[in-house]
Amino acid sequence: MTTTFRTPPVAGALEDSFGRVARSLRVSVTDRCNLRCLYCMPEDGIRWFEKSRILSYEEIRRIVSVLASLGVREVRLTGGEPLLRRDLPVLARMIADIEGIEDLAVTTNGLLLRPLAGPLLEAGVKRFNVHLDSLEPSTFKVASRREDHALVLEGLEELERLGAVPIKVNVVLMRGVNDHEILVFAELARRRPYQVRFIELMPLGGGEAMEIEALVPGHEVRRRIEEAYPLEPVGRERPSAPATVFRFRDGVGDIGFINPVTEPFCGDCDRVRLTADGMFRNCLFARVETDLKAILRGGGTDAEIAAAVGAGVASKGPGGCLDLKPYYSDRLARKMWQIGG
Ligand code: SAM
Ligand code: SF4
Repeated sequence: MTTTFRTPPVAGALEDSFGRVARSLRVSVTDRCNLRCLYCMPEDGIRWFEKSRILSYEEIRRIVSVLASLGVREVRLTGGEPLLRRDLPVLARMIADIEGIEDLAVTTNGLLLRPLAGPLLEAGVKRFNVHLDSLEPSTFKVASRREDHALVLEGLEELERLGAVPIKVNVVLMRGVNDHEILVFAELARRRPYQVRFIELMPLGGGEAMEIEALVPGHEVRRRIEEAYPLEPVGRERPSAPATVFRFRDGVGDIGFINPVTEPFCGDCDRVRLTADGMFRNCLFARVETDLKAILRGGGTDAEIAAAVGAGVASKGPGGCLDLKPYYSDRLARKMWQIGG
């Protein structure tokens, strides 16, 4: 099931000192969110970015164009909750039209999907990852501190109706909160055209309630599924994909595991990130950022943006996943919703 990009990498353009080439860009379009997932955000007291700090669509387009000229082929819109950003399909169309961009995806909590799925598909979005931590309204409310469970299910149905399949459903398990639903999610993957992907909880410190103790390791999740439904390995969609995919042995559906904590995949990472306030990051766990907004708003040229991005990529470390504790305790570090998950 290996997939590759149509065009080869631009020689040496965005290669780091470990030989990894950046091909995939996550663009956070807002830090705001309509859920308060236990592991991601605090319940209240959040200080949102001031509006003037947020990149305009034209600014995002310009940065993505420069990155595309340097070999980036895939863009994923994320946040915060990306569908909260007004007129998101307009941005999707602007990015889909950029020469070199082959794949445009959205990661969403699904609350606003029903009205927006169609316009986003029409604008050029090819794939959706929908985050859903529970199939039970009461557990959803505990996990996300909001009541909008039915809206997510409606959003998923809309994607199915529009034929935007297979749909990836991201589940973050928290021991004692939603891990009793492992089999129910496995059955969902068998029943519907959804690739359910279990993401290991990273103790990033956004939701102070969630520490490493809540982590349910991917190998445990797999064992618990295999007790009922044997699995066979399929591999990764491409070497840099975070999910290891398994198929149910009877051929009915497949399931993915994203294990950043117990099986870090930094060695094959091809991802870089742009935050909603215009900072370029070479890693989710990066401790240093490059201020592209300052270059843009200071009248910088595309060549200057390219040089800054190139330097940012060149300084990428071997990987941050094993180094979570200092990150977690660093009060200056950005949290997941401020980076773009
Ligand atoms: N709001 C959108 C959503 O929830 O899909 C997009 C942004 S969210 C930060 C992206 C993904 O990151 C979601 O699947 C979410 O579950 C995941 N995520 C957030 N915090 C996490 C954490 N501490 N550990 C693991 N995954 C996390
Ligand atoms: Fe919002 Fe997504 Fe974070 Fe949940 S994981 S609080 S939906 S940004």
